[in-house]
Amino acid sequence: MLIDSHAHLEMPEFKKDLEEVIERAKGSGVEYIFTVGTERKDWNDTLAISNKYSNVYAILGIHPHNAKTVDSETYSILKNLCRHEKVKALGEIGLDFFRNLSPRDIQLRRFREQIGLAKELGLPIVIHDREAHQETLEILKTEKAEACGGIIHCFSGDYEMAKECITMGFYLSIPGSITFKNAERFREIVEKIPLDSLLIETDAPFLSPEPFRGKRNEPSFILYTARKIAEIKKISLEKLAQTTTENALRIYRIKSDKRFNKG
Ligand SMILES: [Zn+2]
Ligand SMILES: [Zn+2]
Repeated sequence: MLIDSHAHLEMPEFKKDLEEVIERAKGSGVEYIFTVGTERKDWNDTLAISNKYSNVYAILGIHPHNAKTVDSETYSILKNLCRHEKVKALGEIGLDFFRNLSPRDIQLRRFREQIGLAKELGLPIVIHDREAHQETLEILKTEKAEACGGIIHCFSGDYEMAKECITMGFYLSIPGSITFKNAERFREIVEKIPLDSLLIETDAPFLSPEPFRGKRNEPSFILYTARKIAEIKKISLEKLAQTTTENALRIYRIKSDKRFNKG
């Protein structure tokens, strides 16, 4: 039993075969998928997918790439949609100083504003941090983000950063790039991160694990990432699956009794 804590099922890559993608995920033991709508034009599709499939939950927010698209209506729309029962987090929000698709000062402002929004809504946050580790940590501290908690998705910081995030009550989510041949340093960091703070994700359609590197990623491929992390941590796949599933259910606040009543 696995949970894909982060995917983008509303993206055009899944337009033709979403039904089969979700079936294949179930067949690989993926119990829940969390799909992330990263800008206003995607939110309704994200929510519609989570309404259609009982095993899909939604995460809505403004990705740092889209920080510049925010206008006077955006936050009130986001707030209303986030009150829907299938929405389990606000995200992905944060900083991307690698691609810089929105100006940095606007990224910083939107990140801060959305932490405030998450606190108001009582939702955890999902954070995107690329090449902005120091700035991300600083904002999490100054905005007192431990009040909402959440997940650093596609974690790419060092072990020191991991420890700081864990102290603030955040979980670290590991994608398929952990399987890449040149990811030795990443594997050393993940080996040291406590299992109780780990989640796994595909970030599908991006970041396919080996042996699918370069192809479209999909939630069923999370099995390859899970196997690799179990190997790194020298534990069974079952133990890794069980603990990361419990972690995901805890941070996304999904009651486990619901799981067992499902039949
Ligand atoms: Zn991201
Ligand atoms: Zn993402």
